[in-house]
Amino acid sequence: MSTRTHAAMVPTFAAAAVLLTLGLAAESELRGEDSAPRRPPNLVIIFADDMGYGDIASWGHPSIHTPHLDQMAAEGQKWTSFYVAASVCTPSRAGLMTGRLPIRSGMCSDTRRVLFPDSAGGLPDEEITIAEILSGRGYATACVGKWHLGHLPQYLPIRHGFDRYFGLPYSNDMDRVASSPPGRQAFLAPEISFWNVPLIRDAEIIERPADQTTLTKRYTEEAVRFIRESRGQPFFLYLAHTMPHVPLFRSPEFVGRSLRGLYGDVIEEIDWSVGQVLQTLREEGLAENTWVVFTSDNGPWLSYDEQGGSAGLLRNGKGSTWEGGMRVPCVMWWPGRIPAGSFVREMGSTLDILPTAAHLAGAEVPQDRVMDGFDLRAAMFGTGPSPRNHMFFYRGRQLYAVRLGPYKAHFITQEPYSANANRQVHEPPLLFHLEVDPGEHWDVASAHPEVIAEIRELVARHQAELQPGEPQLDKKITQR
Ligand code: MG
Repeated sequence: MSTRTHAAMVPTFAAAAVLLTLGLAAESELRGEDSAPRRPPNLVIIFADDMGYGDIASWGHPSIHTPHLDQMAAEGQKWTSFYVAASVCTPSRAGLMTGRLPIRSGMCSDTRRVLFPDSAGGLPDEEITIAEILSGRGYATACVGKWHLGHLPQYLPIRHGFDRYFGLPYSNDMDRVASSPPGRQAFLAPEISFWNVPLIRDAEIIERPADQTTLTKRYTEEAVRFIRESRGQPFFLYLAHTMPHVPLFRSPEFVGRSLRGLYGDVIEEIDWSVGQVLQTLREEGLAENTWVVFTSDNGPWLSYDEQGGSAGLLRNGKGSTWEGGMRVPCVMWWPGRIPAGSFVREMGSTLDILPTAAHLAGAEVPQDRVMDGFDLRAAMFGTGPSPRNHMFFYRGRQLYAVRLGPYKAHFITQEPYSANANRQVHEPPLLFHLEVDPGEHWDVASAHPEVIAEIRELVARHQAELQPGEPQLDKKITQR
């Protein structure tokens, strides 16, 4: 992890040319046992939206049927302490794409927590994305699904390293039409016409409102087509489902399938989609050279009751810095490389995917800026521990909590969607031992002042090097 902090304002293409030289350490990864260069592995990230820690059968859900995710986990690896960079969509996705906390890119805010259709900001050009790093190594790249890192032309995926894009530029509950039923009623019996969201191919709107009932199916078809077309070269597929973010929609074949109701139907269609992707990789003979990661962008949206998911035994959900907001299910799969049926109980994060992918591709991790990710290869392959021993939990631009080893200190807590009246500052911080107490019930602060002192030192070091990025989420389009 670099600790140099000078501003990087060079254009992305120049940065990519300088940074994507072949690193010596990375090169060894590209050689087989006979030292012959081999093709770098493909990367597939399947990103659900607002799916909780407890929404997969093999992670404890009693009535949602997820045979494909369960098989993926049986053949692959479950990460049980895997975190996103923020508990809401936009900053979480910025962290995934850049390997940097959203405070550094400016992709977080205390007033507007995500981007909206009237937002003028987006992921800055000087940020380096996973797609830019991998395309610099000859990968074909596709973004299929929800982007939410800026809908104006200069912020779309095709301007951030992706060769192609097919999906919604922001959340499916935005662009709500005035004639839709009031309040929550629109979500209880959702109809396509209630939300005027656009479906985009590359940079063109091709359908509006998007037919959300078939989005999961069409994203899957697009993903499968991209894999088949790219089989002759390394590729990166970012498949970011719009579901199960409300309003919930599923294809006709999945209507009434699940014991868990509409939400369960939606998860079961996503599970079907996972099966389609893995089956395509097998059919094309690519499974043993493809790293697949399944995870979610944040925890379940609990305030939507039955329309939201479950964080299992974790506390709270989307929007909060409790575990239920930021610890997500994560399954990794790579037959022949990742030990089948394995678990990693140490920490990992979506922030770690960029550096890990860079090492696997033989690309260098950016050196001209602070990176927040770690190389997870040793933990994935079962040859060593995870290098991640801490995690910062931001809400907007403020640090609310920190995990160090098994302990998590909450300096500030707040209900996920509420005014500041609900905000509580804790001095000393609340302290939980997450291995004994993953549900964050029993405060052990008074018994462990030495742990709190160590966490305070970590925070002081972090804040001393932190240079917050120019805020992107508060800018509004003045003329619409
Ligand atoms: Mg989300």
